[in-house]
Amino acid sequence: MIEKILIANRGEIALRIQRACRELGIKTVAVHSDADRELKHVLLADESVCIGPAPSRDSYLHIPSIISAAEVTDTVAIHPGYGFLSENADFAERVERSGFVFIGPKPETIRLMGDKVSAIKAMKQAGVPCVPGSDGPIDSSNKHTLDLAREIGYPVIIKAAGGGGGRGMRVVHSDATLLNAISLTKAEASAAFGNDMVYMEKYLENPRHVEFQVLADQYGNAIHLGERDCSMQRRHQKVVEEAPAPGITPEQRAFIGERCAKACEQIGYRGLGTFEFLYQDGEFYFIEMNTRVQVEHPVTEMITGVDLVKEQILVASGERLRYRQAEIDWRGHAIECRLNAEHPETFRPSPGPIEEFHAPGGPGVRIDTHIYAGYVVPPYYDSMIGKLITHGEDRDTALSRMCNALRETIIEGIDTNIPLHRQIMKDSAFQQGGANIHYLEKKLGL
Ligand code: ADP
Repeated sequence: MIEKILIANRGEIALRIQRACRELGIKTVAVHSDADRELKHVLLADESVCIGPAPSRDSYLHIPSIISAAEVTDTVAIHPGYGFLSENADFAERVERSGFVFIGPKPETIRLMGDKVSAIKAMKQAGVPCVPGSDGPIDSSNKHTLDLAREIGYPVIIKAAGGGGGRGMRVVHSDATLLNAISLTKAEASAAFGNDMVYMEKYLENPRHVEFQVLADQYGNAIHLGERDCSMQRRHQKVVEEAPAPGITPEQRAFIGERCAKACEQIGYRGLGTFEFLYQDGEFYFIEMNTRVQVEHPVTEMITGVDLVKEQILVASGERLRYRQAEIDWRGHAIECRLNAEHPETFRPSPGPIEEFHAPGGPGVRIDTHIYAGYVVPPYYDSMIGKLITHGEDRDTALSRMCNALRETIIEGIDTNIPLHRQIMKDSAFQQGGANIHYLEKKLGL
């Protein structure tokens, strides 16, 4: 068993990982920037190390500082959380070469899945349904590309193989703009991701975002834990997530879930992972895999009763999966609202001191947050300050518990998006379930 874990992250996820470690009897090392000395998990850690100044590139993204902190603290394993270095194959490699356990997949798996062209190829081979597309890279000098686009059928989307964060994509509606769009996307991709490879997919006009959670051990065993619906998005950022996804049948869940688990076995996947799909007209289309814990993992935990972060640590320490597929069942419904320090209408970040904080409670209410009264939200990082999760025996109960919990939550001193969440929970299309990925922006008039 791993005795000590360095948490290479901050905020709510660092605290979440620390809680899992505590339950497993594992000591924690918190690494933090100069701006983060007062973070809750830093104050609670067995040991803490300052790894540099406030800007992420000098601290949370600075690989040598993190490795040195692991060395001086006799760390055994490093948990990368999400964001920052969590999907950086070079980091995973450095961690392993320095003699530590990386809590995540093998570096080569991160690399395979980080290149969307190779990821899609691997998924097709494993029988996971993908968006009709180019089967590899395309370029603008090729007449074949025009034929291909007509064959796929307009509109198509040009995407960067190395893209991320919703950047490096362009929708094309006709032959007239196709070749130019490819050149532009290539140039952008080269500047933003250092890789100008692009590919083409059919552009789905009204899809939902439905993703599947998987868990695999080092011995070729993998299971799926069902799906989440994350269609409530703004600028490709998820705002509200829920599980299960409204309207997905047990047969669809089993069919897609089993293919995802099988794909994990075929590529030698280990740890937690998420297969992201677009879902339209009853069909699933794989778009990408995330090779780390997700922000929205709690909704799956609430309906399965599986502690995903604990299981992630256990498989990284060499244990076999403790669950068989047949032992996973789904109870009730869970909803998560991401709480951001931002203005609810302009979305302007709102860092600063939290003067008052009252957490919600009651049956089926969970809050994952690092904030407390007196904590100062620094301006340097992502504006997410926590997540509010509710669970109930059905969707209506989870929803009404969320409305109550949002009413009970009081955060003073900074702006938060709680008013936006209240509005979403009262929205009739959200209440009905199954809105598509454009719904929220349209509703907000964006
Ligand atoms: P990233 O890694 O940048 O998040 P994704 O491949 O996950 O890129 O795509 C991000 C978002 O772009 C999707 O959630 C969806 O909204 C949109 N998108 C991507 N591919 C397609 C497609 N083929 N059709 C329609 N929308 C798409």
